[in-house]
Amino acid sequence: MKRFDIIIVGGGAVGCAIAYTLGRYDARIALLERELDVAMGTSGKNSAVVHAGFNNKPGSLMAKLCVEGNKRFEAVCKTLDVPYKKSGKLIVGFNEEDMAVIDALLEDGRKNGAIGLKKIGREEMKALEPNIEGIGAMLSSDTAVFDPFLYCIHLCEAAMQNGVSFFMGNEVLGIRKERESFVITTCKDEYQCKILINAAGLYADMVSAMAGDDRFRQYPCRGEYYILDEKVSKLLSRPVYPAPRKGVGGLGVHFTTAIDGSVLIGPSAEYIEDREDYATTQTVMDQLLREARLLLPALKKDMIIGSYSGIRPKLVRKGEGNFGDFVIEESPKAERLIHLIGIESPGLTASMPIAEMAVGIALKNTPLKEKKGKGVYRAEYRGAAVFAPLSPEKQDRLIEKDANYGEVVCRCRTITKAETLEALRNPLGVKSVVGVKNRVHAMMGRCQGGYCLPKIAEIMMEECGVPPEGITYRSDGDALFSGRLK
Ligand SMILES: Cc1cc2nc3c(=O)[nH]c(=O)nc-3n(C[C@H](O)[C@H](O)[C@H](O)COP(=O)(O)OP(=O)(O)OC[C@H]3O[C@@H](n4cnc5c(N)ncnc54)[C@H](O)[C@@H]3O)c2cc1C
Repeated sequence: MKRFDIIIVGGGAVGCAIAYTLGRYDARIALLERELDVAMGTSGKNSAVVHAGFNNKPGSLMAKLCVEGNKRFEAVCKTLDVPYKKSGKLIVGFNEEDMAVIDALLEDGRKNGAIGLKKIGREEMKALEPNIEGIGAMLSSDTAVFDPFLYCIHLCEAAMQNGVSFFMGNEVLGIRKERESFVITTCKDEYQCKILINAAGLYADMVSAMAGDDRFRQYPCRGEYYILDEKVSKLLSRPVYPAPRKGVGGLGVHFTTAIDGSVLIGPSAEYIEDREDYATTQTVMDQLLREARLLLPALKKDMIIGSYSGIRPKLVRKGEGNFGDFVIEESPKAERLIHLIGIESPGLTASMPIAEMAVGIALKNTPLKEKKGKGVYRAEYRGAAVFAPLSPEKQDRLIEKDANYGEVVCRCRTITKAETLEALRNPLGVKSVVGVKNRVHAMMGRCQGGYCLPKIAEIMMEECGVPPEGITYRSDGDALFSGRLK
């Protein structure tokens, strides 16, 4: 049995931010994640927008933590070397009714303390986004886009440099109380801790029930997306949303100009039965295209290069309205069990204040000493070198030092063999194709892996010393190749 002071269940944005926050304390901390990498749940399947906080119910925890998260996000990304861009965003109205909704959003934003909001007329809107249709809009200049994969990965790698332990591929199957401790059984091992932090996202209600608190039920609500070619980013320079409609879950079908250059349409909002049903469906895809064309009439079907979906953990059932606030508390049924339940949007934006609130609750009755002394604790983290944005001179210098920078693996994004190798040598020890994809962003361009996937497979065979059948795509037992044909 492995013994720790605090164990976090779940390696999404929230669990990773908690691990990072706890890294400053002199204690034995561990994170258990059922997948082989972090950001494999909802944190890797969303719009990746840093919301400003005008869309959340005034007075709610969601509103408070979103506004706080937005104000700090840029600094956090700088500290952790995570791509971030203050793109701003437009909420567009098509008629006077929509403009009244925009007025209400402005008022909610003011109550929530959100900054950088203003109503603009059609002319100003057209000057910002000439290809967008509508009669006017709200401009939110403090909305941003960022890279959610590198955010989670760098939070963990920074936490690791501060002594936090990570156990991937460890699904929590059972939790029992033994005197003052929790004993956690995973699919691989047994762990013991004094404080248990449940950041299991979509499964947080189930993990909570395992620990003796069965008061919660989360309802999965799927959001489907189209991925558009990078060339669409010439038509749009910031995320564009429609004014939200009553009774429709989520923020409405919008365009997101993602940090990696692609553009997304979505998400839809549909309650589903199965928490693992990440399908994208013809009906919703048709709906996305229809709604998106109202905003951007120049949108064409041949601009679509892929699709995906993410699932919201809703605390309200279908038809009960859309609002269920974040639950961040010590369980009244199990002392020293800290819950994070119903962490749907804006959970990424708010992840750092959520983490700090959870840590504050966890340490209220069990204070820990902060690490002292030079070099003992490091908040900053630097990621691997990224080749494509460098000047030709700097690229030449890298190639001179390491010839693998001269070999391009992903042609859509100019990602090199050296970067792929660096991704495979990651501190968390992740050796999957998706692990490489999420670190270097290969397989995300126009070819969606058609050209680079075989090259990545070859590099993995060489670097990891495995046969083709030994290459893991995403999860344990998820082989990329099933066997040889000849
Ligand atoms: C369609 C969509 C769009 C969104 N867009 C935005 C946006 O633009 N901006 C924003 O701020 N927020 C957005 N969100 C919300 C945001 O993505 C989530 O709030 C956030 O990612 C939640 O993070 P988490 O760490 O709580 O959960 P997760 O990312 O789901 O992490 C939980 C982790 O726990 C692990 N786990 C589960 N059960 C177990 C177990 N038994 N044992 C071990 N590990 C386990 C999972 O594998 C997972 O990695 C969006 C969400 C959706 C669905």
